[in-house]
Amino acid sequence: MTIGSVPSKFRVSVNHDQCMLCGRCIENCPYGVFRMENNQIHVNSRQCVACHRCIAMCPRDAIDIKERPVDYRSHPVWTPEVREAIYNQARTGRIILAGMGNAVDYPIIFDRLVLDACQVTNPSIDPLREPMELRTYIGKKPSRIEFEKINGDIVLKTTLVPNLQLETPIMIGHMSYGAISLNAQQSLARAVKETGTFMGTGEGGLHESLYPYQDHMIVQVASGRFGVDINYLERGAAVEIKIGQGAKPGIGGHLPGEKVCADVSCTRMIPEGSDAISPAPHHDIYSIEDLKQLVRSLKEATQWKKPVFVKIAAVHNSAAIAAGIARSSADAVVIDGFRGGTGAAPKVFRDHVG
Ligand code: SF4
Ligand code: SF4
Repeated sequence: MTIGSVPSKFRVSVNHDQCMLCGRCIENCPYGVFRMENNQIHVNSRQCVACHRCIAMCPRDAIDIKERPVDYRSHPVWTPEVREAIYNQARTGRIILAGMGNAVDYPIIFDRLVLDACQVTNPSIDPLREPMELRTYIGKKPSRIEFEKINGDIVLKTTLVPNLQLETPIMIGHMSYGAISLNAQQSLARAVKETGTFMGTGEGGLHESLYPYQDHMIVQVASGRFGVDINYLERGAAVEIKIGQGAKPGIGGHLPGEKVCADVSCTRMIPEGSDAISPAPHHDIYSIEDLKQLVRSLKEATQWKKPVFVKIAAVHNSAAIAAGIARSSADAVVIDGFRGGTGAAPKVFRDHVG
């Protein structure tokens, strides 16, 4: 332990009576906690993040991991989290980056969702047996609908603009290939196809293994324009322009070059090993008129067959921005709140701004 390090969080122990020295824990711990010395397994608990991979791989249930809380002198302002954040920043000389989610004790909004069922327009006779429909449409609705009579049949005269049809009013937000692994994206894709809903590609392009799920994918166009070409736009069920992101409003993105392997580089259409930097603003959008041009260009490119959404972060002036977006010909405004998806965001932003 060096001066300024935060205390270790977990204590790893190995029951040497049960251990058969197979070495699987050494091979499988991604943080190098285990080593073999003098024909015995030794541990460095400081590196452990409690991922439980070693426990899953140990054939003898010989590994035990316990949380190791360490008390700090209590203070209403200098909480343990604040102190550890300062230690970590001072030690590394960098701001702390973190992935999606938020460990701060805010309400879990998802657990408090109330679905607004239409019991008045279609009163249930036997609510225990009648199916409840959650189908939801996202996109523009006409202000009035006109019908006409053709050969005695009543047919719809109004041309409807394309909408997304969700079997359940839940969608999976955008997380790019690169920010998350292809396995994770494929798992989400299978889930949205199975449940009749949609997920977002993020700003990482669309990997060809996801083409079978393209009818359930919303393709994203963000400030770096990574992975965007006509093939990408045409494959998506809808197109989303990302202006802002709930996890880090006002901040762009940075996928380090180490994560841009051959496969990610093909999908993002950038050189292998190069940093993928998404600027904070779109450098061609500085007004609602500019946004309107992009919305209309994307609609033109996709022959007006795909709805185009615009995503912003949920911030204090979202209502004014949303009013502008509504005038830009976009089909829906997506408002991304805190705990939104991100591969990496400054932790202080993720926890206190998003
Ligand atoms: S829990 Fe994860 S990090 Fe900790 S020792 Fe096991 S494999 Fe390594
Ligand atoms: S995986 Fe389990 S049995 Fe194998 S060396 Fe590690 S602790 Fe021992």
